[in-house]
Formats: sequence, structure tokens, C-alpha cells
Amino acid sequence: MPNNFRVFATCDIGDALEVLRKRGYQLEVYPDPKAPPKGLIIDRLRSGIDGLITTLRDQIDAEIFEAGKGTLKVVAQYAVGFDNINRADANRCKVPFTNTADVLTEATAEFAFFMLGSLARKLWSAEHLTRENKWGFWHPYLPFLGDEVTGKTVAIIGTGRIGLAMIKKCSGFDMNILCYDPAYQNHEYIKAIQETIDLRYARGIQKEKTSIKYVSLEDALRQADFVSVHVPLLREGESPTPTFHLFNEKRLRMMKPTSFLVNTSRGPVIDENALTKALKENWIAGAALDVYEKEPLPPESPLRDPSIEDRCRLFPHFASAARITRLSPDPAKGMAGRCIQGLIDVLERNYSGDVKRMPYVVNKEAF
Ligand code: NAD
Repeated sequence: MPNNFRVFATCDIGDALEVLRKRGYQLEVYPDPKAPPKGLIIDRLRSGIDGLITTLRDQIDAEIFEAGKGTLKVVAQYAVGFDNINRADANRCKVPFTNTADVLTEATAEFAFFMLGSLARKLWSAEHLTRENKWGFWHPYLPFLGDEVTGKTVAIIGTGRIGLAMIKKCSGFDMNILCYDPAYQNHEYIKAIQETIDLRYARGIQKEKTSIKYVSLEDALRQADFVSVHVPLLREGESPTPTFHLFNEKRLRMMKPTSFLVNTSRGPVIDENALTKALKENWIAGAALDVYEKEPLPPESPLRDPSIEDRCRLFPHFASAARITRLSPDPAKGMAGRCIQGLIDVLERNYSGDVKRMPYVVNKEAF
């Protein structure tokens, strides 16, 4: 049966949108690659939109829900993180919103691992040396050396979906793993990883015996050679353990001067001024960032300081940016497919219209 739902997508999310067109939806896609101004989203909503497809660039709050009052039935977010959506406002207006968890877990974790590797082995500096014709001779330790990853200790901050996937990647590199998460501890998973490590050691696949365990944040930061952050952005009042500026001056000073920090979670989890100071004054050895307090990274950001460029890797919110992960129309594989399916579930009243049973709806508590 044809559906004539009206959907506005604030961004083109690729071929998966054909799924909606084929079902008879009236679809309008904002054509510019940059985010639409909020006023434009409000105008579209006032014209009577049933479903809104959003990205992390759109601020979805009371003003937006007010504009969609009476017609807006779902906000489908093309991301797992949803800190751009005001959950309390969505709940007050009884509008369900969906996200695209799971399908980007492995891609994000592997990128975090590659960031860790690029920092440790100085890939950026090594390539510059070659390209800029400064590779004058082969030498045992000049002009610089990197640090091995194998056998080192990594701290995983946040053991949700991506943290656990990162643990799996790190265990394949024979690393010791320290886990910290005040709200969710998956002891079964950690036990299974330890059993895998033990088997690899017993069968001679890894030479050194390594271990995995939950520890306090302080122990994790004081002992780790690498710290990889996988928490949601939670501001004061949103959680008993907020993550806004979790990495401030005090926590950065707990880390070893030889250690590296990797962040693929959300920018405001790290105080960038404190991090710049930490890099300039060598409290830590380096950092690799995929996310920033302000995105895109402003030209005047202190992180761009040339004096720290050899130890500060900067990426453009790119961790989930892999072809299948971003674009597959299959909801089991791609963010686009999952985003579309979340929208369809709500608009077409799948699961007998029971929002609580819809797998991709986040704010089930409002229904
Ligand atoms: P998740 O909800 O499955 O896991 C987050 C974990 O963090 C949870 O286990 C939670 O208990 C824990 N946590 C909460 N507060 C904490 C605190 N104060 N200290 C330590 N741990 C805490 O989320 P996920 O799917 O693993 O994603 C993690 C985050 O990664 C997302 O929220 C998103 O912001 C970010 N992300 C970024 C990209 C990217 O492209 N860079 C891609 C995907 C996800």
C-alpha cells in the first residue's frame, strides 16, 4: 500500500533513501553538503513533516519539536551518538528518536586502533620525512623512533559497544587491557577475552602472558601506555558520572609522560586547552583526535600549534567513515539502512505501533 508520509532529510544519506521513495514517501533532501540553518528545518517542519532525518550537525531541541507539533512523528538520527538531540524535549513532546547503533561499532573501533598505531609508530612524521626529502640516511635511531604497541598496556575508557570492540582489536595485538566504566561492566566478555588470551599463550601464538581487568579510572590512567576513550557525551545533570571534560588538567596529569591519548568519542569529553598544554609541556607523549569541542576544527584551534604537530594527530570525525558502514541500505550493515528502518518502524507502526518494542528507538522511556 503506498504511503504518503512527508520526510525531510537534512543531509543526503545516499541510495538508502530510494527505499522511502519506492514506498511512496514524499521525500525532500537538503541538497547542500553543509548542514541547513536551523530556521530552514523549522520552516520545513511547520509545513507539516512526518519524519525528520538528522545528523550530529543539527541541534534538535524544544524549538524544533514545537515547530513540528501535531505532525512530526519521528526524528531518525544518522549516528549512534545523539548529544545534539535534547532528550528531555523529545520526551516532553512524545516524539520518538532513533539512532544507528551497532552498525558502526567495528569501523569506529578499528579506526581508533589505527589512530593509536599511527601515534605510536609516528606514521605521519615518517611519511613527511620521506616526502620532504629529509630521509638522508638509514640509522638505528635517528631521526626518531616509535613505540611498539605489542605487549603494551591500553586503557579502555567506556566499555559499551565500541569499547568492547576496541578491546577485541587490542587483544589481537597481545596488549594488556585495563577497563574502566562506572555504569556498565561486561564481566562475561572480559572473561572470554582472558580465556582467548590464555589459549593464545598456551598454544605459543603470543609470547608474553597478558591480562585484562576492570580497574579504577585513576589506576587506568596511571598505568596505561595508551588510553582510548569510548564514552558518550554526558553533561552535568545528565548522568551521575558526566563525561564533559572528563579529560581535564587533573586527569591528563595522571597519565604517564610516555603515554598516548586517543579520542573517537565526542570532542567535549576532552578539555582541548588542557590537552594542548599537556602536549606542549610533555605531560603525555601524544594524542590522536577524531572529534573536537567545535567541529569542523576552527582555524584558530590551539591544537593546530605547529610546535606539537609531530605528536598531535587530527582527523575529521572520520572513524565511522567507511563505505559499507556509512551507506549500505541494509539495516544490519549500514548507518543509512538502519536510519531509514528506524524511521519506517515508527511511521508505518511496525511492532503493532509499540514504540517500546522498536529496536532503534532510543527514548523508549517516554512511551
Ligand atoms: P555505548 O553507549 O554502547 O557505550 C558507552 C559506554 O560509556 C557505556 O558503557 C557507558 O556506561 C560508559 N560511560 C558512561 N559514562 C562514563 C564515564 N563517566 N566514564 C567511563 N565510561 C562511561 O556507546 P558506543 O556505541 O560504544 O559509542 C560510544 C561513543 O562513541 C558514542 O556515544 C559516540 O559519541 C561516539 N562515536 C563516535 C564515532 C566517530 O565517528 N568518531 C562513531 C561512533 C560513535
